[in-house]
Amino acid sequence: MDIHEYQAKEILSGFGVETPSGALAYSPEQAAYRARELGGERWVVKAQVHAGGRGKAGGVKLCDSEAEIYDACEGLFGKKLVTHQTGPEGKGVYRVYVESTVQIAREIYLGFVLDRSSQRVMIVASSEGGMEIEEISIEKPDTIVRSTVEPAVGLQEFQAREIAFKLGLEPGQVQAMVRTLQGCYAAFSELDATMVEINPLVVTSDSKIVALDAKMSFDDNALFRHPQVAELRDKSQEDPRESRAADRGLSYVGLDGNIGCIVNGAGLAMATMDTIKLAGGEPANFLDIGGGASPERVAKAFRLVTSDSNVQAILVNIFAGINRCDWVAEGVVLALKEMNLDIPVVVRLAGTNVEAGQKILAQSGLPIIRAGTLMEAAERAVAAWQSDIGQSAKTLGAAI
Ligand code: ADP
Ligand code: MG
Repeated sequence: MDIHEYQAKEILSGFGVETPSGALAYSPEQAAYRARELGGERWVVKAQVHAGGRGKAGGVKLCDSEAEIYDACEGLFGKKLVTHQTGPEGKGVYRVYVESTVQIAREIYLGFVLDRSSQRVMIVASSEGGMEIEEISIEKPDTIVRSTVEPAVGLQEFQAREIAFKLGLEPGQVQAMVRTLQGCYAAFSELDATMVEINPLVVTSDSKIVALDAKMSFDDNALFRHPQVAELRDKSQEDPRESRAADRGLSYVGLDGNIGCIVNGAGLAMATMDTIKLAGGEPANFLDIGGGASPERVAKAFRLVTSDSNVQAILVNIFAGINRCDWVAEGVVLALKEMNLDIPVVVRLAGTNVEAGQKILAQSGLPIIRAGTLMEAAERAVAAWQSDIGQSAKTLGAAI
């Protein structure tokens, strides 16, 4: 789960990371009022969306008066901000953060990520802040400092100092950098984050180390341990298909193809998508119904997959261990009866209670296409989709 910049800043400042003073607003009037409360003569108005690259896309505006703040906000609220990280559809702006400006002397890049090969938290830093890390790694790879943290002891002071020295910080700035690094690491590990990124982390003209931007993502599977983090979720920033699925306890990722997939287990879902591609089709989604799925849960999965208007065929692929093929079959039949679907549905079942499941499908009287192996299932789904498209093209041709 991702959170907004202002939320990440609030969390990090609770762990000792310095941030500029700022306040949240839900309207232009409120933003101008917040600026007055903050005081000063210069502010930045920052669109709160779950994506970076806002500066270049016009989502971060420097303002010298309340009137300018009002105008900047009018141009942001209710609009879709398109940055290189949002995709072409953009993300809606419903909140802005008004922040006091700071005098920037130097910009640094700082990121904390999970490094799966060393199975540790890795700190990635560069003296070239302001640029995205992808750009830095191409244009200035030599400036990147990497350091992994030994989980048993956490981020040690000497290790943090070493990073500060490698970034070329002056002696008077090192202690503040150590505090920033240790604060970020503590927030990362205590709150089960998967990413903390501060870009830019700046050295101010009076030698303070301040986080001007902040991004945090969290492990969804650990959110139950952190209700105060879970409640920061902002559904307006999520793919509506994915948030509907999350509300129903299903794990779903929307894709661009036409064949909807209903599968159990993430590994099998990945293999199913690969096999659909191998057979010449394109998956419309990744959907894992999980273990022990009831007929109702399977029916819910059907409703979710078919709510995507790109879906023109469905492939159900279940390898039942904890699941039961008869329950899945009942779910398929339940869904097809109540939904009156007019697209081809291919079902491949294997494992627990497979005979009972096959029987339910066969006796349903519904036009379900059955398959024995995964390859067969993918080929049938692609063939059924192609001939269905052919049919609709013909009908369309006849109508014209
Ligand atoms: P994004 O990464 O989405 O473009 P940032 O928060 O990094 O958004 O802001 C973009 C740029 O705006 C920063 O690199 C910095 O130069 C400037 N900026 C942001 N916040 C402030 C601030 N409080 N004071 C001065 N400059 C700022
Ligand atoms: Mg940034």
